[in-house]
Amino acid sequence: MIKDNLGRKSISILIAIVFVVVQPGSAFARFTAVTGKTAVQINNAAAPTALTPGVSNALQLSVPAASLSLNTSLPILSAPIFAAPKTVNAASAQERRVTTNAKAAPASTGLRFVTDGGNTVGRAAPLPINTNAAVPESVEPASAENTRSPLARLGLALQQRSFTPLFDGSRSARQGRGMGMREAEPEDAGIPLDEQPRQPGETEVARVSWKRVSVPGARASGLRNLFRSRSDDVTQLSGAPQTAAAVESELRRLIDADPARFGGVPSSTLETTISKRIQGRAGLADIVDVEFRQTYHGAVVEGTFLHFTVRIGAAQSNVISETAQLYPNLTVNTDSTLDDAQALESAFERLGRPTGSYNDLQPVGRKVMHIGGHWRYVSVHYSDSKALLAAVDLNTGDAFAWDPKVHAESRGKLIGRGVHFDPPATGTNIVDLAMPHAEVKTSDGRTLFTDADGWFTLEGDQPVTITATLKGKYATIKDQGTATLTITATVTPGKPIRLVFNPEGFDENTVAQVNAYRHANVVHDWLARNQIEDEIKRSIPIKTNINRDCNAFYTPWSPSLNFFKSSGRCINTAFDTVVYHEYGHFVDDMIGGIANSALSEGWGDIIGMYITGQPVLGEGFLKDRTPNYIRHGENKYQFQSRDEVHKQGQAWMGFGWKLRKALIAKLGDVEGTAVAEALVVPVLFANVRSIPAAIEAVVMRAIGDNGQIEHFEEIRAAAAAHGIVVERPVDGSVGALARQRGFIPWLSTFVGERRI
Ligand SMILES: [Zn+2]
Repeated sequence: MIKDNLGRKSISILIAIVFVVVQPGSAFARFTAVTGKTAVQINNAAAPTALTPGVSNALQLSVPAASLSLNTSLPILSAPIFAAPKTVNAASAQERRVTTNAKAAPASTGLRFVTDGGNTVGRAAPLPINTNAAVPESVEPASAENTRSPLARLGLALQQRSFTPLFDGSRSARQGRGMGMREAEPEDAGIPLDEQPRQPGETEVARVSWKRVSVPGARASGLRNLFRSRSDDVTQLSGAPQTAAAVESELRRLIDADPARFGGVPSSTLETTISKRIQGRAGLADIVDVEFRQTYHGAVVEGTFLHFTVRIGAAQSNVISETAQLYPNLTVNTDSTLDDAQALESAFERLGRPTGSYNDLQPVGRKVMHIGGHWRYVSVHYSDSKALLAAVDLNTGDAFAWDPKVHAESRGKLIGRGVHFDPPATGTNIVDLAMPHAEVKTSDGRTLFTDADGWFTLEGDQPVTITATLKGKYATIKDQGTATLTITATVTPGKPIRLVFNPEGFDENTVAQVNAYRHANVVHDWLARNQIEDEIKRSIPIKTNINRDCNAFYTPWSPSLNFFKSSGRCINTAFDTVVYHEYGHFVDDMIGGIANSALSEGWGDIIGMYITGQPVLGEGFLKDRTPNYIRHGENKYQFQSRDEVHKQGQAWMGFGWKLRKALIAKLGDVEGTAVAEALVVPVLFANVRSIPAAIEAVVMRAIGDNGQIEHFEEIRAAAAAHGIVVERPVDGSVGALARQRGFIPWLSTFVGERRI
């Protein structure tokens, strides 16, 4: 897999070199050539990736001085990497594929076909029509006072939903009666539902939408400019109409006079849904609100609106706000092939025909709705007994069902008691930590995920049992000490809930699990904010409380993070910066493979220091020792490409820390931090093969519009602190920009130390 990635990279390098040929003379082109030349020297390393406590490393640190007193009785505790054979990869891929297939069951497709005798059938076959079915005996308009009808209740329920105007049954409601249908199956339980129709996304369907706000009398600057978009001027209605009807009429005239400005939908196809004058009070002006919705061949198009708010003054009436969402290019066949009886039959098939009820389904009307990725001309029916809606595509016979009720919501928060930053100190620094992106399952078969702050929302009218474990979108704890933590609780609708892993006391095992889950998500979200998201979109297994001590490791062939228990020598290793370090190997691996082991060590450390804003990696890791940490951003290690990888890694992490510090001193905390992240983090994608090459990639990233290098002095000084010389590139520079003193390191990486 790594080889594949390298192969692709070589291809892109070739492309870069071609670019040089066609654009000679530019400084840019020359630099690219240099990078290409360097990277061709591929050091293909399956990386040793254990976090090694800094016993021998610390001896290399000249800061702080006390480190020299560290005794070296501990072995170099590099955990063996589980270099599983590649067949493991294949097996897990197969497993994933099986899982995917299982999930692709028809119920989740959102598009449902009418079933025939239990078999799903497409709609090419003629609609199965019950020949005994009679058409409705009479169809009457709903009386205004019939507010207790299912439709009125439905309308009420729907008022809070975004598509309310489209399902508002009050205008076209009709009641079906006595269908004369044969009684069929008993009332079914558990009808699988389709997703509620939603507004199609902008990329799915050509849509015209806008919001314009105009403030009459505002100066051309300031407020008015702030709101100006497509509209240049306040629209003043001619004749200063005062009544709602007059305003509406004038708006229709304006729309027809300039259709393009109003979405290209002629006013003859706009149905009025709101037309209301509201009295100004407390010295405010009167306003008129007018709203239209789009119709297509007489059928209302779901989700459309064109809304105006008009300020009524004595001498003038001005449009102060317009909002719209229209589909001018919509086409759908409305010469339906199904008649009402056939549509009704199809709806019955979809929802089931209740025993002893002949008029369960109430027609809501014909609409144009966007369902299952298509505009459809549908007949909508409401089931009184089941309180469900069904929409039947009048062209294809496909039937869709969903639950229109406005449910009670319960909001809950998933929390774990663990350690925010710093190493665990028994019983003193345990705090509530949100558990983000975590899976919450309900007893009725739903799966929810908490948001980035640990919140989840549960809809439903009935109490439900929920279960959460330390498993989520981006991390899955697999505890090796006891068992992975799980919480089960009953949620009552409308009552907020708080679920806490590890609710009391201090227990190493549980704190380690919470810490590992929490901090894997913290580093995931931090990387996502730095534009690394798709690459790490998987729930990485994390083994906690492994029965060993003084280390942690990442497994490149089958990605997982692994943390050890405490001992007399070391604390439990599942805590902030150690988790970030191991996750750093993971992200490095996911972007073109771990191309250089030393660099990979540095990556995890940089990520750890950047997230926590402090230079100590693995603080408190070693018990009763001074220093008690693993590595430090202020180290003075001088880069030698033949050194052991963790030792070398100190050059990259030290460079990263010193550059960030210098940029903060120059630009302030916020901007300095942002510039450091912007310069350093994307170097992951350069996938370079040595630490000097990574520093060179930072220089390349800092090239300004006219070829100068931004923040060159800060970059140069941070590199020089570790014995790496960075030359300021000039037009026509050819050759490595950063090198170990007197030495071009990529030549040496072939003989670099390798450990397993
Ligand atoms: Zn490591």
